[in-house]
Amino acid sequence: MKHLISAKQLQKAEILHYIDEAREMEGALQRREGRGLERKIMAALFFEPSTRTRLSFETAMLRLGGQVISTESAREFSSAVKGETLEDTIRVVAGYVDVIVLRHHEIGAAARAASVSTVPVLSAGDGAGEHPTQALLDLYTIAREVGRLDDLTVALVGDLLYGRTVHSLVYLLSQFPGIRLLCTAPSSTPLPEDVREFALAHGVSVEFEGNLQHAAAQADVIYQTRIQKERFASLADYEAVKGHYVIDEEVLKRMQKRAIIMHPLPRAGEIVPAIDSDPRAAYFRQSHYGVPMRMAIVRDCLIGE
Ligand code: ASP
Repeated sequence: MKHLISAKQLQKAEILHYIDEAREMEGALQRREGRGLERKIMAALFFEPSTRTRLSFETAMLRLGGQVISTESAREFSSAVKGETLEDTIRVVAGYVDVIVLRHHEIGAAARAASVSTVPVLSAGDGAGEHPTQALLDLYTIAREVGRLDDLTVALVGDLLYGRTVHSLVYLLSQFPGIRLLCTAPSSTPLPEDVREFALAHGVSVEFEGNLQHAAAQADVIYQTRIQKERFASLADYEAVKGHYVIDEEVLKRMQKRAIIMHPLPRAGEIVPAIDSDPRAAYFRQSHYGVPMRMAIVRDCLIGE
């Protein structure tokens, strides 16, 4: 059974396989093909808010000919309110469907779910832990837009501490040679030590670059993130960090011609809309790559191709 819980579980060959498959799926979508999962059902269990992840997973499943059952505010509307454990919920839902996509507010929830599930569990984010399918679509975005996955300078900007997409992205990038990470983060939201250690152990260069303009001038990819308001202990702590690094016309001017700006979205002020029309602003295209990549991921765990 093929769970996808952590980006750490993926080696380079598997990542490249997903990217090839996503390319296939993108072609299939254009040709209005891409079925194969008829009679399969996916459950989307979301205990935290989501727009892109849930809807792109559901779109992916529907495009593949499968069907979806979904609970979008499981924290309020599932039996969790009555005190049911996540494990019990998963035991039950696994008996209804062929694959479970789970987003949960606790780090480690996806692994707990996988340990009791009789069908594949795909993590759609576990608290401030990881978001492996986002990282796969992020790598697909880089492959599509920059044309390579090695010898890259990637500026990680914003909330590197609580930003789960960053953690998974670092794990995936660590599989490729010649990666240089520039960490442009407020001192209270640095890259977690274990994530940094993982990257260093895989030969990645990890540097602190507190000046966004300097980072922008060097980067092939700027990966901007939202300050994760919901993870801070107090509003004051959040306010102290918010608005520190904003990508605007001045930052854009410092960027290389062929570099791109990515963001897992939603944005909350850290990229000004005035730059959206610049071809280097890749974040909306990135959100669209979620469908072919999630088609590849769902197909892989259900029919292993
Ligand atoms: N949508 C992404 C996530 O779920 C990023 C964010 O919320 O800031 O982690």
